[in-house]
Amino acid sequence: MRTQVGIIGAGPAGLMLSHLLARYDIDSVVLEARSREYVEARVRAGVLEQGTVDLLDETGVGKRMHDEGLVHEGIELRFDRASHRIPFPELTGGRSIMLYGQQEVVKDLIAARLAAGGDVRFDVSDVRIDKFDSAEPVLSFQEGHSSNRVELHCDFVAGCDGFHGVSRESIPRSEFTEYHREYPFGWLGILAAVAPSADEVTYTYTDRGFALMSLRSPQISRLYLQVDPDDDIANWPDRRIWDELHTRLAIDSEWSLTEGPVLEKGITAMRSFVLEPLRYGRLFLAGDAAHIVPPTGAKGMNLAISDVAVLADAVAHWYDTGSSTGLDDYSTTALRRVWRAQHFSWWMTSMLHRFPDDDPYQRQLQLSQLHYTVASQAASASLAENYVGLLRG
Ligand SMILES: Cc1cc2nc3c(=O)[nH]c(=O)nc-3n(C[C@H](O)[C@H](O)[C@H](O)COP(=O)(O)OP(=O)(O)OC[C@H]3O[C@@H](n4cnc5c(N)ncnc54)[C@H](O)[C@@H]3O)c2cc1C
Repeated sequence: MRTQVGIIGAGPAGLMLSHLLARYDIDSVVLEARSREYVEARVRAGVLEQGTVDLLDETGVGKRMHDEGLVHEGIELRFDRASHRIPFPELTGGRSIMLYGQQEVVKDLIAARLAAGGDVRFDVSDVRIDKFDSAEPVLSFQEGHSSNRVELHCDFVAGCDGFHGVSRESIPRSEFTEYHREYPFGWLGILAAVAPSADEVTYTYTDRGFALMSLRSPQISRLYLQVDPDDDIANWPDRRIWDELHTRLAIDSEWSLTEGPVLEKGITAMRSFVLEPLRYGRLFLAGDAAHIVPPTGAKGMNLAISDVAVLADAVAHWYDTGSSTGLDDYSTTALRRVWRAQHFSWWMTSMLHRFPDDDPYQRQLQLSQLHYTVASQAASASLAENYVGLLRG
């Protein structure tokens, strides 16, 4: 079997890449380890930067997002039992964010690929990449319950298979540098069947740790608590979660948190990670396969999309002109944006969480940073500009 670009992973990066390549009439095959039902139900990110919204629109997959997503024009920061708003449009020249679940973006992209006759294969296993340092890399895999291996010959391979995928592991360690930061806390997240108690995404700093109120729809709230990363979700019955949320989110003005049935809950570790470069021979890494951010800045899915926007243009340029300039620059171009998002995500995380070794001096520094961020037009604008996403280019 042959295709132009073999793509491993049907997350936002792999599906968007396949969709963008198709617009250039470039063939691709997407290989996904999980079932379609599984990837379409996997609840993860939910904040789309303006640039991601624009790209989905420009490429014809934005309709349902506009029908069902929620445009937000700011966020709230809470500390010292008071709430402060950061308004986005006036600080960023009219830009905003869209709340629309990652699983909905994935559904829209799968539907678009299949409607256009795209080749997306679910439930494949044991994907291997060979000869990616040659001009014709080969992907091999098993399909369904068959024990036969299928070979897929390609011009390029895109490793879009997330943090636990096979792509990054296939590259010899001597060929890249890894940058890490592990955080000494995790996020306990719940999905609850209740209308959100705040109009906007609300980030809260307290002495007991961080809390976040977000939403997936006008009827479904998403709430998070900073917890020990090794804590067991069994230690957190719903009552304890709601009590802790009430305590951390409390403010002195009139406001209350409304409870509802918990639909899902889990604890996620927090880390920052970058691998450089994003290319080895004809294998190109994109999205979580190459970099991870803590979710505090809502950047993970947006970076996956911005990586493949750069990669699709570079691949198209190669087919169009035979020039490898774009491919040669892919890693440097994509990493510039990745590192900006790394810094922003680390900064938000450091400002809003309690660290186990924090002393009273550190607490005063965090509060000073929070006061400055909401009081200074320049500091608010910096947060807003990073949150809605820097312009491409
Ligand atoms: C629990 C959780 C909550 C998150 N919350 C947020 C948030 O609030 N905001 C935010 O911006 N980001 C968040 N993120 C991060 C965001 O979801 C990711 O950055 C985003 O999914 C990256 O997209 P991707 O396509 O690169 O990788 P993924 O979405 O991980 O997709 C990779 C795909 O590859 C498949 N795959 C893996 N291995 C193989 C293999 N060997 N063969 C074939 N297929 C394979 C996987 O099944 C998956 O479908 C969260 C992540 C997690 C895990």
